[in-house]
Amino acid sequence: MAIKTIDDISVSGKKVLVRVDFNVPIKGGKISDDSRIVAALPTLRKLTGDGGRVILMSHLGRPKGGERNPEFSLAPVGEALAKLIGKPVGFAKDCIGPDAEAAVAAMKDGDILLLENVRYYKEETDNDAAFAQKLAKLGDVYVNDAFGTAHRAHASTEGVTRFLPTNVCGYLIEKELAYLGDKTANPDRPFVVILGGAKVSDKITVIDALLEKADAILIGGAMAYTFRLAQGGKVGNSLAEPDKVDVARSALEKAAAKGVKFLLPVDNMICDALDFGGGTLGNTRFVSGDIPDGWEGVDIGPETIELYRKEVAGAKTVLWNGPMGIFEIKESSKGTFAVAEAVANADCTSIIGGGDSVKAIKKSGHGDKVSFMSTGGGASLEFLEGKALPGVVALDSK
Ligand code: AMP
Repeated sequence: MAIKTIDDISVSGKKVLVRVDFNVPIKGGKISDDSRIVAALPTLRKLTGDGGRVILMSHLGRPKGGERNPEFSLAPVGEALAKLIGKPVGFAKDCIGPDAEAAVAAMKDGDILLLENVRYYKEETDNDAAFAQKLAKLGDVYVNDAFGTAHRAHASTEGVTRFLPTNVCGYLIEKELAYLGDKTANPDRPFVVILGGAKVSDKITVIDALLEKADAILIGGAMAYTFRLAQGGKVGNSLAEPDKVDVARSALEKAAAKGVKFLLPVDNMICDALDFGGGTLGNTRFVSGDIPDGWEGVDIGPETIELYRKEVAGAKTVLWNGPMGIFEIKESSKGTFAVAEAVANADCTSIIGGGDSVKAIKKSGHGDKVSFMSTGGGASLEFLEGKALPGVVALDSK
């Protein structure tokens, strides 16, 4: 179902209430990664350029019980946005009520106003109707461009749409839906999926959904060890989920039945004394096959890197989600960065499915070479699982 976008409506002279995802990491008042603000710029430029009065709402962090904790104020984000977009950004100390209403009333066409954190109200995450109506009162039309929270039915992502006549998506959500949706539903083939991370249980629904679409699935990270157990192998002290072995076995059987190539690591880096907090591994070595007692797998090994590199190089579409090992520790980050490089250098549509993989690809210095990096972690996974996202479903269809 195609959703209406900001290109389908006219905003000149209108109060455009825009939900953005400005949930950026802030330490001591400083923003350490402004990607989410940058990702909203195309939509904001279009709306202000067309003479809309742009009213921005977002959450930041998780203020406990909806309290007004200044640690979670969006004020520094407003300043950062003003610099990035090159024009003043007004700030309202509250997201509803007299403060917000007065600030909106003073706006001129093309102005931008940022409202204070919507999660200063518990009613936001409760999707409280009266609160949603107060938010809706501020705008004439609603634009959702917060992909990262589109999987949550909150007042500013879903409730608000019930009180406004026009509800569309911005360019960021449009692009997310195009890459994570259309380009994986009708991919140029071969379509190679690389999945890593900690747990099979977190990603089994994604694996199941992607088994319907992919030509090959390459598994890395601790997830691989549950699959190895399912094949009757030994994994020593590796992070694995013995109670999910049946689930892993069914995925292997489904892959075989569907003719989807399902690759597991052929070798691993193992260590005998992992201290995650201290960033040390103790003794390390590479093994093929079983992992001995007293040792744990922390990364894919060189043969696996080569194997996965070849698969990626031959792909026409690649989707990657989840690190290949404990990439937070340098010694066990090689697999993840080798995959990042392979994906970036492949001559194909490359889609990075959010979270740690996006961090890794940026850190590898190859971020500019991939076709698309998702801004959603949980939202990307839920969308790839085939779940409807409440913040998208609530919008007007074409
Ligand atoms: P996820 O959130 O499921 O994508 O998992 C990401 C986490 O998985 C990262 O913090 C990695 O350190 C962790 N991880 C990846 N490989 C391993 C491994 N072999 N052993 C333990 N943790 C791992």
